[in-house]
Amino acid sequence: MFVGGEPLLEKHALFQTVGYAHRRARAEDKTVDVAVYTNGTLMNERIIEWANETGVSLVVSLDGPPLVHDRKRIYLNGRPSSRIILKNIHLLMERSAQPVKRVRAVACDRGSMVPLHRYFLDLGFNEIHVQPVYDEDGISDSMSGQEMVDLLAWYRDRLLEGTVLGVMPFEGFLERLVHRRRAVTSWYPCTAGRSALGIGPDGRIYPCHHFLEEGRFQLGHVQQGLPGIEARRPFFRRVDQREPCRSCWARHACGGECYHRAATAGVGYTGVLPEVAGTASPSSASPWRSSPTSPPPALTCCAGWRPRISRPRPPTNGPSPLRTWGPTSHEPERARGRRRA
Ligand code: SF4
Repeated sequence: MFVGGEPLLEKHALFQTVGYAHRRARAEDKTVDVAVYTNGTLMNERIIEWANETGVSLVVSLDGPPLVHDRKRIYLNGRPSSRIILKNIHLLMERSAQPVKRVRAVACDRGSMVPLHRYFLDLGFNEIHVQPVYDEDGISDSMSGQEMVDLLAWYRDRLLEGTVLGVMPFEGFLERLVHRRRAVTSWYPCTAGRSALGIGPDGRIYPCHHFLEEGRFQLGHVQQGLPGIEARRPFFRRVDQREPCRSCWARHACGGECYHRAATAGVGYTGVLPEVAGTASPSSASPWRSSPTSPPPALTCCAGWRPRISRPRPPTNGPSPLRTWGPTSHEPERARGRRRA
């Protein structure tokens, strides 16, 4: 996975590295999967052709429609970037041979989850992952429990109408159910430190790419070889070895708090943000039911869908730009036409 900065700025190094990885893999009778996370500004015809030939997955970082995206994602000279990105995304949808079209977003606005997903689906993406913005003050309140319940209901409707679509984090549960056939058990929030490592451009190694350039989490350097399991062990911990996760009803669905989010928010590498931990209740009318008798309760704790409002936010003028979009009336027809399973 090539992520951070903009990998396509060094496309020749990228081409060579991916070619080398494929050659080595072939020589050892293995396969290698490569994903390139890109802001889309340099994703031209040649890049898409190269991705088709090499089987590389291009993952686009897009925060939403221009009104949203251009608030943060601008060129050095202040020029908004959405116009060129949208042009390149249309090119990707036309030319890409990859069946999975992936988008990643950071959500800042309350009430934006369903409109954002609808927007990305309309652009042609069929694997969508939106995460809340976080920093030293904690996680933004952009993904409240009720919003996640609404998103799950929207996702359920898309699946029931035949849309082939992956929405994180729900897709992970479905995958585990399909592949393991019975259990959704998670012991860890992710593979950081266990089977994943992040390697910076200077060769330093970290538990995952989120930690790049955070010196206190450095695990080693490529010139010294990859760190063995004992060096990596302090960087992952099972959910039942974390407090208060070990007594949380959702621990095996959740796997525990993201290590980088916990460390960034100041509760320690294996900590859990204390304001909300352990307050979720399992008794609920599930949004998966076709006709719930009572409205589903707000989930108040889970990695990725917890509300935390630790920092006063500046008042916004008027409603979020996302709220101004209505539902797209053609959505079911498009889904029937293009995404039947
Ligand atoms: S929902 Fe919260 S308390 Fe429960 S396992 Fe996940 S992070 Fe830990």
